[in-house]
Amino acid sequence: MSLRLFNTLTRRVEPFEPLAPPRVTIYACGPTVWNYAHIGNFRTFLSQDLLRRYLEHIGYEVFQVMNITDVDDRIIAEASKAGKSVTEHTRPFAEAFFEDRDYLRIKPADVYPRATESIPPMIQLVQELLDRGVAYRAEDGSVYFGVDRFADYGRLSRLDRRELKAGARVDSDEYSKEDVRDFALWKAAAPEDEKVQAAWDAPFGRGRPGWHLECSAMALDELRRRFDVETLDIHAGGVDLVFPHHENEIAQSEAVTGQPFARFWVHGEFLMVGGTKMSKRYGNVLTVRDLREEGVDPAAVRMLFFQQHYRKQVNFTDEALAAAGKGAERIGELRKRLAQAAGGAEPSSSEAGEQLEREFREALDDDLNASSAVVAVSAFVTRANRALDEGEWGPEENAGALSALDHTLGVLRIAPIERVLDQDEAVWVESRILARREARESGDFATADAIRAELASRGIVLEDTGEGTRWRKVSG
Ligand code: AMP
Ligand code: ZN
Repeated sequence: MSLRLFNTLTRRVEPFEPLAPPRVTIYACGPTVWNYAHIGNFRTFLSQDLLRRYLEHIGYEVFQVMNITDVDDRIIAEASKAGKSVTEHTRPFAEAFFEDRDYLRIKPADVYPRATESIPPMIQLVQELLDRGVAYRAEDGSVYFGVDRFADYGRLSRLDRRELKAGARVDSDEYSKEDVRDFALWKAAAPEDEKVQAAWDAPFGRGRPGWHLECSAMALDELRRRFDVETLDIHAGGVDLVFPHHENEIAQSEAVTGQPFARFWVHGEFLMVGGTKMSKRYGNVLTVRDLREEGVDPAAVRMLFFQQHYRKQVNFTDEALAAAGKGAERIGELRKRLAQAAGGAEPSSSEAGEQLEREFREALDDDLNASSAVVAVSAFVTRANRALDEGEWGPEENAGALSALDHTLGVLRIAPIERVLDQDEAVWVESRILARREARESGDFATADAIRAELASRGIVLEDTGEGTRWRKVSG
């Protein structure tokens, strides 16, 4: 295991080592479910998926936490407009997020704590910060973190005090802060918050958590309860989160634990559109449901993103997506060809397969250089097609190459493979599962049952879990 990762904390590519191997704990800042996530958000989630899959591929046991932010200013404003509670407003968007995740074949995190369901650990963290004197309750009833009282503030983002001051803006509702850089841990309840049921009782006053606090509290809660530690192996997010979000997460956590909050900070670059960041604010977003309606193959989206290094920007165009789709198709076709040519031969290693695995690992070991990995797969596809054309490989070599390709693609996750399955079938199964869920949600249980039976007749068994529907192929 010789993975090297760029660590934002040190601004260097470093050998990756977890606190307690083989376990690797990852916390990734999840979606704010005020609306549908866009494919820019999903670029970040896909980079994290690649990281997680690769860690597992090389033998680590990953425990991944992704929070769902279901209370914040935007959510309160939207819920209020719609005359709903924050929970009512966010529920469908959280569900849509899980559907989109499954469509893009992102491996589910182990837990998805929701902010509104994690209020007790948040209150506890604020109390601990107050007890230690790094936080204070201001005249407006809110609790702020006193940045001056935490010596390491600014280490991650490397902004000096002057820059921090100049960059900070005072919100109109945060006038009673001692220092403009201070940030709210707990916001005193306003009538607007009460209206949408976004206020909770706490010893330091009724209110709601600040966004930065949510992540520290949920991450620490999971780490303490499950592993009795207070340090994450990896904390991940998009580059826009380095400051102030992650800087503040470090301050809140380390001020209480005295331990490093995360050993590695991994940040992914933006998805752009015509030179501008994809963002709701600029009105240039595309959602996963848009892509699904257009019939875009999720493998094309994965391919498009993996063709570029996660620390470089990707510019989204229809042409680039179509080209990525062609690349993914080529791999799918080779896989079918290999499966046919292999007949029933047991997978064994083959020279070509070993070379692919070697090149693939070299690429991903190097700070997850997925673009090089894709080049290696592509070269393999060319070599394998040529060998097949010339009848140079026997069934055993074919099976070996197939297993190498599957292994590889299992990481790139072009298709959900539990055993050798062709890509088209996997896409079909996923689409039937989605149709079944939609039928169930609209109360049409007869159709839902019929879909289950249809899948069963092809040897596909479904299992409904709290995280969605899983499937397995048992025969055929
Ligand atoms: P949000 O739902 O706004 O909290 O964002 C969820 C994740 O998406 C965060 O990790 C952001 O850094 C990331 N993100 C937001 N916009 C983009 C973009 N255009 N490209 C890549 N990642 C993004
Ligand atoms: Zn966060």
